Amino acid sequence: MSWNAEESKKGYEMLLEKLRVEEGEEEKIRSILEAINLFNSRKDKVFKEVEDIEELRERIRRAKKEVLENLDYYVEMAARKMEDNLCRVYFARDGEEARKIVREIVGDAKLVVKSKSNACREIGIVEYLESHGIEVVETDLADRVVQLLGEEECHPVVPAIHISKERWSEAFSRETGREVPPEAQAITDASREGVRRAIMNAEVGITGANAIVAETGTIITVENEGNISLVSRIPPKHIVIAGINKIVPTLEDGLSVAEATTLFGTGQRFGTYVNFITGPSKTVDVGLETTIGLHGAQEVHVILLDNGRRRALEEGMEEMLYCLNCGSCLASCPVYMSLGEKYSCGYFGGIGMAFGSYIFGVQRAFLEGLNFCTDCGACAEKCPSKISSNEIVREIRRKAWEELGLLLPPHMRIRENILRTGNPFGESPEKRGEWLKS
Ligand code: SF4
Ligand code: SF4
Repeated sequence: MSWNAEESKKGYEMLLEKLRVEEGEEEKIRSILEAINLFNSRKDKVFKEVEDIEELRERIRRAKKEVLENLDYYVEMAARKMEDNLCRVYFARDGEEARKIVREIVGDAKLVVKSKSNACREIGIVEYLESHGIEVVETDLADRVVQLLGEEECHPVVPAIHISKERWSEAFSRETGREVPPEAQAITDASREGVRRAIMNAEVGITGANAIVAETGTIITVENEGNISLVSRIPPKHIVIAGINKIVPTLEDGLSVAEATTLFGTGQRFGTYVNFITGPSKTVDVGLETTIGLHGAQEVHVILLDNGRRRALEEGMEEMLYCLNCGSCLASCPVYMSLGEKYSCGYFGGIGMAFGSYIFGVQRAFLEGLNFCTDCGACAEKCPSKISSNEIVREIRRKAWEELGLLLPPHMRIRENILRTGNPFGESPEKRGEWLKS
């Protein structure tokens, strides 16, 4: 493969740009580290309460492996069971197809409420719906302040940790039209008003899923705030967008995913709310006839998203698809702890580079920071699914070179030196003794 010098140099410039410390960034990194320390100390405590954490991790790996090795079988089973439960199921090959499906389901609705969802972020559903004149209200507290202030998320679990209480207060004072003091409880109370009003008036609620159980067709979501429960029940239409890798074989596997997501993500023994949704709200109370739509959603639409996942599987990247999106790996990643959200390609961290290269292409991952990974392997230690993101990243770097000729200029120099002189310094091998002197 010949060197793609132009793109490689561009990638190097972008990495240097990301390394530049902008005003306020040190403060942001300090906030991220505080959150990481809090979660780590909670985890140290709560892990002692779990009888066998290693068995939990193995159970998740077994469940994910089983589905991914028999993907068509489990996708078909999950879809059939969900349809039996009166859900409508759609398959989206990529983000564009998923967005079009959502647009059709949303129809003439003018207000949509949404909960935190990686799959939604992955396909850019908020921007897409807004570009079609539809108002989308984020209902997760941190996502809402990020939306109101037009900020960037900096962490998958606490995306607004970098925003000062003064700015939170400013955002919700503006939204409520009254002075909201910069205090956590006052801000929480104030945020509830607008979000609750939007949920009550919205025609459509969009959520992701932590797991989809193939044997029962049950959608599982885990949360602390209670907004997902409301978003999935109050609006007449509930849309679920989930990667095909969220499917697990059994209810027990789904519970393991729910348990591990909070244990590893936030250091909680279990999420405050765990929702099991097996179809729209229904009853047979009146003459044993099934009628739809009481106090929950009348329609449940499930979009199963591929978006590069099958290709990753075909190319031997099965382990990448074990990801629960818990964010635990970031708590040990030296790159994320130095750069924050700059170390991302759609998703955060090394695993984000892996997903990003299949969703947006290897070239984009190369430009966004594929080469930042130090290959330390610390992420695998913290991961509930024991994913070695470094090995995946290493493989994608190989692809970047072999298929696209992408190699950072300093790496290219080392390569040329080795080929020319047999050592990375480009020094004469006959004069090894003299290297010592210099
Ligand atoms: S191997 Fe890479 S992604 Fe994993 S913790 Fe180390 S630097 Fe971060
Ligand atoms: S790679 Fe592991 S630790 Fe990181 S987000 Fe995915 S499941 Fe969590």
